[in-house]
Amino acid sequence: MVYVISKDGHPLMPTMRYGKVRRMLKSGLAKVISRCPFTIQLLYETTDITQDISLGVDAGSKDIGLSATTNLKVLFEAKVILRNDIVELISTRREHRHARRNRKTRHRKPRFDNRTRHEGWLAPSVRQKAESHITMVQKAHKILPVSHIKVETASFDIQKIKNPNISGTNYQNGEQTDFWNVREYVLWRDGHVCQCCKGKSKDKILNVHHIESRKTGGDSPNNLITLCEYCHKQYHLGKIKLPKTIHRGMSFRDAAFMGITRWAIYEKLKELYSDVNLTYGYITKNTRIENSLPKDHHIDARCISSNPKAESDGTVYFYKKVRCHNRQIHKSTINKGGIRKRNQAPYEVHGFRLYDKVTVNSVEAFVFGRRLDGRFAIRMLDGTKINEQLSYKKIKLLEMRKNYICERRTPLLIGASPDVPVAI
Ligand SMILES: [Zn+2]
Ligand SMILES: [Zn+2]
Repeated sequence: MVYVISKDGHPLMPTMRYGKVRRMLKSGLAKVISRCPFTIQLLYETTDITQDISLGVDAGSKDIGLSATTNLKVLFEAKVILRNDIVELISTRREHRHARRNRKTRHRKPRFDNRTRHEGWLAPSVRQKAESHITMVQKAHKILPVSHIKVETASFDIQKIKNPNISGTNYQNGEQTDFWNVREYVLWRDGHVCQCCKGKSKDKILNVHHIESRKTGGDSPNNLITLCEYCHKQYHLGKIKLPKTIHRGMSFRDAAFMGITRWAIYEKLKELYSDVNLTYGYITKNTRIENSLPKDHHIDARCISSNPKAESDGTVYFYKKVRCHNRQIHKSTINKGGIRKRNQAPYEVHGFRLYDKVTVNSVEAFVFGRRLDGRFAIRMLDGTKINEQLSYKKIKLLEMRKNYICERRTPLLIGASPDVPVAI
């Protein structure tokens, strides 16, 4: 599928007449705007004849599915992997700052007056995910004349699982006393009974255990669990495992994300576009099963777009949101001899940037690592290693890095594994 943009920049219907596209490009009637997805801009006036295109968005906390369809055809399908490193990065930064304040070194003073949060404030990790949804919808609108959008943000009612009284008390914005408060709450919630042995160990001393480390999981009630001291010690010695139900704090996190963000995404989309509708997961699931389609994010998105019968040629665009910049100045561990190593690599190494799209033996891949001696790590978008030590002389630049790196995957050739993308 070749996506077409008119002379004045409006998206037109995509085409599959590759011969015509080639001739137009050759004769200068059109120019290439983007390689992936392949988009051309016409250089002469045309009349816009567009069909009704529905864009389905399967919102998620880890990935997004997108599908733009007409009644008969799938025009664009994409799967987006979102960033999942923000909590860790911010926690690390907080720890570093905290540690620097106790040393005789340059540091930023703690701020106590920046705690007011404007209405609609979202935690950085969540905000990033919400913004990625909007950006992807905008990307689809740039290449296709989308007439309406349908979003699936939740499959169930979050209020039923979320505790209404206490939500997300985090020790970062309060005093340590907040934690003791929450601790008492957790003990009360768990009925002052060890949730591991249910009191069988006869140990009367109770601890409150962080399911995820305090650093990443925080002090919110859904990350805390009551354990007796015996079980707690045994667990940290690695001698016993906690029952599987105790790990549900993890699923709370995902659910909580959709709870906060679903309205943020929906409201923002309504602001930007005129025809936006909400749908729910159980409807999508039903449509998918009725049409006996496999489970995948982009297929779900196709069902959400309300054209589950639309025919697809199997092409799916894989996107991955990557970090734009890294502002950490020095490596956290100091080298022998007290030499602080710079953390930031130069923007260009031997003319290549991180996440540049390159070809290696006619396979498209990305630069995932660069060494000054010229040996580069070349990988696929999903992290599949192609060559970890390839000379930069053997790779050819295709596209400069973007914040959303993109890979086209076509239906498999006979014998190829479904995970191996085929070069265009
Ligand atoms: Zn116990
Ligand atoms: Zn513990």
